[in-house]
Amino acid sequence: MIYPQLGEEHELVRKAAAEFVERYVEPAARRIDSGEYPRDLLREMGKLGLLAPHIPQEYGGAGLDFRSLVVVVEEIARASPALATIAEVQASMIAYDLLHFAHQSVKERWLPQVARGEKIVAFALSEPCCGSDAAAIETRAERLGGVWRISGTKLWITSGLYADAYLVAARTGPREERHKSITLFLVERGPCVEARPVVVMGMHGTGTAEVKLEGCEVGDEAVVGGVNGGFSVVLEDLNNGRTNVGAIGLGIARAALAEAWGYARRRTAFGRAIAEFQVVQHYIAELFARIEAVRNVVYTAAYLRDRGDASFPIYAQIAKLMGSRLAADAARTAVQIMGGFGYSTDSKSEMLYRDAKATEIYEGANEVVLNSLYRLAEKSLFG
Ligand SMILES: Cc1cc2nc3c(=O)[nH]c(=O)nc-3n(C[C@H](O)[C@H](O)[C@H](O)COP(=O)(O)OP(=O)(O)OC[C@H]3O[C@@H](n4cnc5c(N)ncnc54)[C@H](O)[C@@H]3O)c2cc1C
Repeated sequence: MIYPQLGEEHELVRKAAAEFVERYVEPAARRIDSGEYPRDLLREMGKLGLLAPHIPQEYGGAGLDFRSLVVVVEEIARASPALATIAEVQASMIAYDLLHFAHQSVKERWLPQVARGEKIVAFALSEPCCGSDAAAIETRAERLGGVWRISGTKLWITSGLYADAYLVAARTGPREERHKSITLFLVERGPCVEARPVVVMGMHGTGTAEVKLEGCEVGDEAVVGGVNGGFSVVLEDLNNGRTNVGAIGLGIARAALAEAWGYARRRTAFGRAIAEFQVVQHYIAELFARIEAVRNVVYTAAYLRDRGDASFPIYAQIAKLMGSRLAADAARTAVQIMGGFGYSTDSKSEMLYRDAKATEIYEGANEVVLNSLYRLAEKSLFG
């Protein structure tokens, strides 16, 4: 297939990512799904320039573009949606923020290590009080005697258990000011941080955690994106992240289709391969059509991002919405086509089904993504 949004260089990146997946990720996918955080693989991705392909080489990346990142995330997600999730957060949110919004000294110290996978930084926005309503967060940062003191509790934090640092969203003004009084801080892990595992349905191995901060002290240089400027950075992060969630959905759907199709050709019932039943062929054809449609949406979003086009946020929401729905539908259909075996923990489809559900929730529940899309569509249609 040819995708007009991608060039030859992106197909070369895909080839390198697919080789990495075959050699390193596929053999480790089961271990990750049983809860092992893939720190070694993140380092290996970093060494090969696959963790932060869009970051300049002088800061430890591969000096490529956002489309390269999206293609890598899609390929990784075929084997391990969990690894793709960790990598995507580290690359499209953390590395991006350090490059564009961090103090020069923080950028020089942290970005090369983040891009190379030597240090992991978690994105800590959600709290027990509020996930969708992120502008209502309660974590506070107060400036006393020349330092910021940060206290609060974050929840559902990917890599939270193992991170070397956290990009923490904290309130730096009255709560009534909502998104206008939120600041991002890079907080190094230390005795003021307590991380506790949170048991979740899928995306095992991502180190999902509750993270408590108790009087963590940082200087002004730890502010990322300016005092009270955190929320606009978060919105940019979410556009990058949602495009990549679309890519994760795409990877999950491609893997689910491959599993189901292979099984349907091998499995016989009533004297023939179940792939010969027209209903199974229709399931497969439908998924194939939706995968191609979502590919075009995800690659278009990434292309618009690379061009700096104003319509990127619209496509970012569509990529997240369509990619995550496709992932959940494809994994459910794969389990159905594979019957009892599909439902057993021996089948990859079972893992994909659990992992796919998260893509409809994280980086904005799909209902919240639809709210954003409605506002953007309204502006685009009616000015
Ligand atoms: C596996 C996983 C990893 C995650 N990783 C991170 C991370 O690294 N960092 C981080 O900060 N957060 C992370 N999250 C948190 C995630 O972003 C939130 O779970 C998500 O934004 C939803 O917030 P909530 O769970 O508080 O649900 P709530 O805000 O309580 O919403 C519950 C449901 O209510 C509905 N709803 C809420 N608001 C609206 C609305 N305005 N309109 C219509 N419907 C609405 C939706 O159906 C939504 O699913 C992760 C979550 C998961 C599951």
